[in-house]
Formats: sequence, C-alpha cells, structure tokens
Amino acid sequence: MRLRAGGICHSDLNAIDGTDPIRVPAVLGHEGAGVVEETGPGVVLPAPGTHVVLSWLPACGRCDACLRDLPHLCAAAWDAMAAGGLLDGTSRLSRAGETIYHYSLLSAFADHAVVPAACCVPIPDDVPWEVAAMVGCAVTTGTGAVWRTAGVRPGERVAVLGCGGVGMSAVLGAVAVAADPVIAVDVSDDKLEAALALGATHAVRWAGDAETTAEAILAASGGGVDYAIEATGRPEAARCAFLSTRARGAAVLVGIPRADAELQLPALSIPRMERRVLGSVYGSARPERDFPAVLALYRRGRLPLDRLITARLPLEAVAEGVDLLRGGAALKVVLET
Ligand SMILES: [Zn+2]
Ligand SMILES: [Zn+2]
Repeated sequence: MRLRAGGICHSDLNAIDGTDPIRVPAVLGHEGAGVVEETGPGVVLPAPGTHVVLSWLPACGRCDACLRDLPHLCAAAWDAMAAGGLLDGTSRLSRAGETIYHYSLLSAFADHAVVPAACCVPIPDDVPWEVAAMVGCAVTTGTGAVWRTAGVRPGERVAVLGCGGVGMSAVLGAVAVAADPVIAVDVSDDKLEAALALGATHAVRWAGDAETTAEAILAASGGGVDYAIEATGRPEAARCAFLSTRARGAAVLVGIPRADAELQLPALSIPRMERRVLGSVYGSARPERDFPAVLALYRRGRLPLDRLITARLPLEAVAEGVDLLRGGAALKVVLET
C-alpha cells in the first residue's frame, strides 16, 4: 500500500529506548493511513484503490480470546508482533540481504508498506490522512478506554492522567459523552491549557507524588471520580489514579509500564469501597466497527481530532518528530508521506 500519513505514538518511543524490547533492526511506526495499491494472492478485500486506516491488532477470529468476543485480546496478533514479522511470522523487509523486522505488523514510517489484509480498515475517501492515521492507535486507545473499557455515562466523573495523544483523546472522548467533571492531570501547564481548550472542566498539575495529586483530584471532583484514566505508564500515576476514585470507581490503566513494574494499592479500600482496576488495550476496540464510527464523529465536528495535531513533518524528519514527542511539549506529531 501507499502510505499517505503516519503518526508518532508513545509506543514507538518505548521501542526506541528499550522500555518495550522489540526485534531489531526494524522499521517503526504503528499509526498509518493510505491507499491499497496491490493485493497478494487470495486477498479479495480490500480492493486496490481503497482508502484504509491501519490497525495493529488484527483478530484471528479463532483463538480463545476471539471466541470470547474479545478480539482486542487476540493472542495470534501478539505472537506475530513479538516475532517481528507479518502474520505468517516472516518479514517482507530487507537491506542489502539483511532481514529488517516489522514493528506491530505495520512499520508505518514509510511511503510504502506490505501489511496483512486484516490490518486494513476501509474509511471514506474524504477524511484527512493525518486524522485517519491517528485513529489507528492514539485516538482509539484514548476514546476507547473511556467509551468501551470504562463505558462512561453522561454525568459520570472522569479524570485523565497524562495529556499526550492518548490522554487528550480520552479527554475528547469523555467530553463527547458528557462526562462531568472532566479533570485533566499533567506535569505540563501547556498541556493542561490545551486540555481545558478541548473541553476539560478542571486542570490539576501533577504535584510530585500520588497522594498529593490525588487529593487535588478528590477536591476538584467533589470526593473522587468514577473513572481515572491513566495514560502515562508510570506506576506512581497509576497509584494516583486509583487513589482518585470514589466508591465503585475504577482506575483504567492504559499506559504501558516497564515489564518489571509493580503497583502498590491500599488493599482494604478494594473490598470496602468496591474500588476497581481495569486494564485497557487498544481501547477495548473493534477496529472495523470503531474506526469508521470515530471518523464519522470527526466529520460531523463532534470529535475535533485535528486539534490534537501540534506538528506536521515530512517523513524524512521522523527523527525530529520523535525528539519533539520525547520533549513533552507536543500532543500529536504526524508525518506526511
Ligand atoms: Zn500507539
Ligand atoms: Zn484471535
């Protein structure tokens, strides 16, 4: 396929700095959108010419998780991803005879890519490429955590810890379903300003530790939130999310911690307050259903995804884009290919 836009997402940084060890050398990038140019033998859909958003989590339809109607937990895709190949375990990439591995089945930091047909989700022809690309990971991960994993209802209280691309998508998702209040939490005043501009009702600056920050969230929410969406992957922030909940509330853990990270929680409050911890991967989403639905909301002006984009760069400037994201000031950096 011919890629037309890609997005840099935090997992790409985790792969670069080793938080998430991957097979190397690899072409990174797991947010992309473009046009199908050619299909392999036996592939009927998508037809050449179809505009698609790439999903990095194709479901096999046969494994235990798929049969339990949890396609976002499909084991087959994770195994293939870890091997650095496509779904058959082999790579389509090489340089001077040396194998180059795929990242997340996609390797979207490219102008062309060979991807599994099951990763291609058709979209309307008139959606801006860079908006479409973001729906392939950050937007779906953030909005899905609110809509699918948590199932937030109007008037429920939501806090979002970490206002990067995923967290800010969670803010937009919470605002879209009339959660109230929507409390943004971050270390950066600029990001908190941006969250307020996108509809968050309160901003809480990270106070340096879980307890103090949780107190500020409890105060802002009038006694605790129903859902605290954690999008940083830091155990201290996850603990803060938990401490910010009221009775029956849940910390929704989206951010990816280091593999050896552990989480300490006040155990008594779990039975006594029915507090919960929910894990959320890929927004518990079903890409074939949810990508077009999210893009339809964008097209009607009800989910202003384009406002998440703080930098547009050519593909050649991908390293600069990674630095921008790592610097902490950018929300979403998109690549035009
Ligand atoms: Zn991502
Ligand atoms: Zn499966």
